[in-house]
Amino acid sequence: MADAAGHPTAADVASARDRVAGVAVPTPVVPAGPGLTRHLDVEVGCKLESVQPTGSFKVRGATNAVRALDPAAAARGVVTASTGNHGRAVAHVAAATGVPATICVSELVPAGKVAALEALGCDLHVGGRTQADALVEADRLAREQGLTVIHPFDDPLVIAGQGTCGAELIEQHPDTTAVLIPLSGGGLFAGVGLAIRAVRPDVRLIGVAMERAPVMAQSLAAGRPVTRDREEPTLADSLQGGIGGDGNRHTYPLVRELIDDVVLLDENAIWAGMRFAFDEHRWVLEGGGAVGLGALLTGRIAVAGPVTVLCTGANAEAAQVAAMAAGADRPPETTVT
Ligand SMILES: *Cc1c(COP(=O)(O)O)cnc(C)c1O
Repeated sequence: MADAAGHPTAADVASARDRVAGVAVPTPVVPAGPGLTRHLDVEVGCKLESVQPTGSFKVRGATNAVRALDPAAAARGVVTASTGNHGRAVAHVAAATGVPATICVSELVPAGKVAALEALGCDLHVGGRTQADALVEADRLAREQGLTVIHPFDDPLVIAGQGTCGAELIEQHPDTTAVLIPLSGGGLFAGVGLAIRAVRPDVRLIGVAMERAPVMAQSLAAGRPVTRDREEPTLADSLQGGIGGDGNRHTYPLVRELIDDVVLLDENAIWAGMRFAFDEHRWVLEGGGAVGLGALLTGRIAVAGPVTVLCTGANAEAAQVAAMAAGADRPPETTVT
């Protein structure tokens, strides 16, 4: 079903909808409310991927990839590297379908996410300072143990699975003129972009990344996938990591083709998004899940008509939730150096 270059297409997203059903849930689009719409003067819908099992949209791509395995590969098992949410989604789907799962994470992955992985009973490997280190470990284990790698973003089945979020959104909110999509490896952006462009080519697709590691944005500017060998702690830990450098096969070319605008946010703008979700709705969004709201609240992007914001994940650290409940104007020190 892939196109001539081997990239996934909107037809792959359509097939993924059947495969993810029953594990991933259709998520609601909820009005952002007057606190945001009053000063923007446009209708804003929040698509709450934060209510998915495991707390993020990653369960869509993980389910599509795990359920597509042939029986022999499923019996051998899967391996992945993750900033937390993808690993948790893979471990969850694997446990539900009886597939052995091995998850590699770097030492920068927050404690809450590591604890959630431990609770899922997967084979957990913690080591290395970056997401790239964790991916090297996953590839080594795949070779040694005959496991199938489920890449966190650069995999056609993962991209098509994430795209189901976009296919749903455009049915729920057909008047939307723009979609704000958190952007890291670009699996979400590519899948959602393919699904939306296929039915509504005029919708503006806006990627929202964090200033501390805008690897996709830098790659788009450079005209080729760039690499980065250092990671810093950030509120948006789920947007951490590179895009695979010259090894990137799908997400860089797809994002380049689909993206209209890219916005970069600093830590205070990410915190503003998290605080708004909590203060206005009592929603807990992790930093990576709140960047779309942060971009609108801080005026980093101008929008003209109804827009939809993908609120991609709930998995904030407990200290961040406590700081939000206490009304802290700035994010807690422990996560920001
Ligand atoms: C993974 C993740 C993203 C970014 O998705 P990519 O496919 O890597 O671009 C955004 N938000 C959350 C909560 C995530 O877990």
